[in-house]
Amino acid sequence: MPEVNCPKCSSKMRVDWRRNNTLTHFFYSCPSCELESQIEVEDFLEKKIQEILGIKSEKLEESIKKGNTKFFISMGIPTLLFKKETGELESGTVIYLSDEIEVIRGFPKIRRTLLLGPSLKNHFQDLIAVEEKMNGYNVRIASINCSDICQDISKNPESNSKGFDEANEDIKHNKIVALTRGGYICPFTTKKAQELMNLDDFFADNPELIICGEMVGTDNPYVSQYYPEVGKLAFRVFDIRHKLSNEPLSIDAKRKLLKQYNLPAVRLFGVFSADDAQEKILELIKEIGLEHREGVVMKHPSMEIPPLKYTSSQAHDREIKYAFNFPFDFGRAFFFSRVVREGFQAYEMEDSPEELQKRAQRLGESIIYPMMDIIKQINDGEPAVEDTTINVDSKKEAEEFVRHLHDLGVSAMLIEYKDGNAIIRRIYNATNDKIKNYLNGGLY
Ligand code: ATP
Ligand code: MG
Repeated sequence: MPEVNCPKCSSKMRVDWRRNNTLTHFFYSCPSCELESQIEVEDFLEKKIQEILGIKSEKLEESIKKGNTKFFISMGIPTLLFKKETGELESGTVIYLSDEIEVIRGFPKIRRTLLLGPSLKNHFQDLIAVEEKMNGYNVRIASINCSDICQDISKNPESNSKGFDEANEDIKHNKIVALTRGGYICPFTTKKAQELMNLDDFFADNPELIICGEMVGTDNPYVSQYYPEVGKLAFRVFDIRHKLSNEPLSIDAKRKLLKQYNLPAVRLFGVFSADDAQEKILELIKEIGLEHREGVVMKHPSMEIPPLKYTSSQAHDREIKYAFNFPFDFGRAFFFSRVVREGFQAYEMEDSPEELQKRAQRLGESIIYPMMDIIKQINDGEPAVEDTTINVDSKKEAEEFVRHLHDLGVSAMLIEYKDGNAIIRRIYNATNDKIKNYLNGGLY
């Protein structure tokens, strides 16, 4: 932040983060004489951001104008979030404006292959490392510097509008935080990640690295899938990347580092030559599909070529089935893309007539049964909702998490809190409203 001295008593003024600051206007107040003033910081952030990120000023201006960036305080740290891709910056990129400006890039989109044979040969030259694709939610864990501002907040807790408890406790110069895909620090995930793993040594030695992984298991508020080796909640690391550049470590370097710090990695099924890979992966997909596992991510061992993903028929069906519980809350593209995947997979796997019939039947059942159930349910006066139980330390923590969901635009409420278990209810408004309307004779 630009330094400003008080015109009355010359002490160093502080940005007042309780006020509605923007990218160019900051409210300052003087801690000594309590003078307050709004200061226009012409182009300060824009220039600084361009300098750090090497992003063109028109791109940044356009993104700000279109409302694709958001400026807010997160855990007491002023934050600029890119909600949409901007130039080279992935959506979900965040810039923390503490003493040192820190950039955590969004997790890059992984393209999908519909037909392994031709796309693997086109995309990868020689070797392909095949990792398991776990079905949970994407998390980036980083250590960020927040000394000055966190200290301000500890003295004046009210300035932390979100009331995140830990910001007021033991103030360190660096804080480990966990971000979900969109770029928001999730209080639940931040806490759980540190309970599940010892991250202190890793970040003490590697403050410039980001751990990217999947939070998996049944007891989380985002994506619940049971894995026998996980049970309620676990974390699996799939990438280690550099903060500012987003460059990933090679598969080897990543695995060595994870072993060194005793951090859990996703399964590596093997490294195959591009010629053998199609056959090997099709076999693998059939096998893990039967275990209701999601799929694979194929990576070049050096990580210099972007990875590709491929998923099992059972995973497609499971997602279709889930989404047809709340059909009007999911976009049409959600359903169509999964049917397309099934079509190409059936073609490439050369299913026998019996197998093909089974595939078709599974897909049909995943559509029609949940649709029937939800129409019946709403007709019986029971709304389309989804309850998840999460484990928290207090009711306050559960309420804070629900506030976080509201910030993300999710319609949710706390239904019950008892002995560390909080039931969070998500409400599917579009499904409720539309189905009620059709049940009352509304036209489609
Ligand atoms: P995308 O990431 O391609 O934009 P998406 O958000 O719809 O798509 P998915 O279809 O689930 O997500 O596929 C990509 C995601 O898979 C990654 O963002 C990551 O969270 C998850 N993932 C699970 N296992 C791995 C792995 N081994 N390597 C990379 N990503 C993995
Ligand atoms: Mg996923």
